[in-house]
Amino acid sequence: MVSRRKLLSGLAATTGGLALRTEARPFVDTPWPNGARGAVSLSYDDGLSNQSLLAAPELARRGWRGDFFLTLDNMRDAFPAWKAVAAAGHEIGNHTTHHRCDLRPFAPGAYIRDEVMATQVAFDQAFGPLPRHFAYPCSVTNLGRGGPNAELHRFGELLRGQGFLSARTSDGPPMTQSYAWTHRMALTADAPTYEKDDPAEAIAYLDEALKGGRWAILVFHTLAEARTESGATSLKVHSAILDAIAARPLWCAPIGEVLAHIRPK
Ligand SMILES: [Zn+2]
Repeated sequence: MVSRRKLLSGLAATTGGLALRTEARPFVDTPWPNGARGAVSLSYDDGLSNQSLLAAPELARRGWRGDFFLTLDNMRDAFPAWKAVAAAGHEIGNHTTHHRCDLRPFAPGAYIRDEVMATQVAFDQAFGPLPRHFAYPCSVTNLGRGGPNAELHRFGELLRGQGFLSARTSDGPPMTQSYAWTHRMALTADAPTYEKDDPAEAIAYLDEALKGGRWAILVFHTLAEARTESGATSLKVHSAILDAIAARPLWCAPIGEVLAHIRPK
């Protein structure tokens, strides 16, 4: 994870200059709503039934909405539950059909057609047309030829060409508004409980966001009474992280809502 984070920091440095040349006006931050000093989005990957059963209701109890990035494979058998999640105002995002973690065997066009758009068409039929948001499975972006920068740029542009408004990785620091808007096809995020079922990493990440007036995106996978597998978060730790958000002057909103808020007017 560390090397991936370094890679994304490097990409920010190498693509920042390019992006600035295409943005005519300097970016102006929009104050966070209600006097908040930072923002946080809560995202849940892979379309696991424990998320619709456990995470969505807990967010609703707190008056919050999250992002649920579903794979078509996982959501097919649990469609009524996900329809209820969407109806409650949570964002439903695209996490591909089969969650491939190595894209080297795929031609870019075929991958977008078979893994991304096949899923999006099914989602649009199931939920009605949705604003399009994507999360890169395994935070992997090695689609097509070239170095990491060329691959990520190509992937992002192909998604943008299909009407996607954002794409989220799973690594990197909290974002300034300027960075997030410019790199909205490579949003950074943190999976704070992936290595360890402990709220400490999430709390440090939230405080980093607060310190810089930034936007933090957190990523969760399996939720369970107790951690029984790598990447799983216990309900106790999940609640402790949500409590930490509630105790801080952070605006908690889904990714699409934060992007709409920071979009240059
Ligand atoms: Zn995933």
